[in-house]
Amino acid sequence: MTKGKERIRFDCVGTLSEPHIYKCSVCDHEFRGEIGVTEEREHQLHCPQCEVAERITNHPKKFEVVGVIENAS
Ligand SMILES: [Zn+2]
Repeated sequence: MTKGKERIRFDCVGTLSEPHIYKCSVCDHEFRGEIGVTEEREHQLHCPQCEVAERITNHPKKFEVVGVIENAS
């Protein structure tokens, strides 16, 4: 069930390339996500439930950052 030392910190945001727990502002779905980099070197995040996608330049606007996952495997 649990994976080693992985834990979620709710008090920091970390860097965008780290996996985070995000909350979708459209459908309220919380999910574990990593911002992917497209071939155009754009950072993108999308909700697995309602398929909302956002191009991230700095901080996501359609998604709320719930916490950062440390020691993710
Ligand atoms: Zn959604």
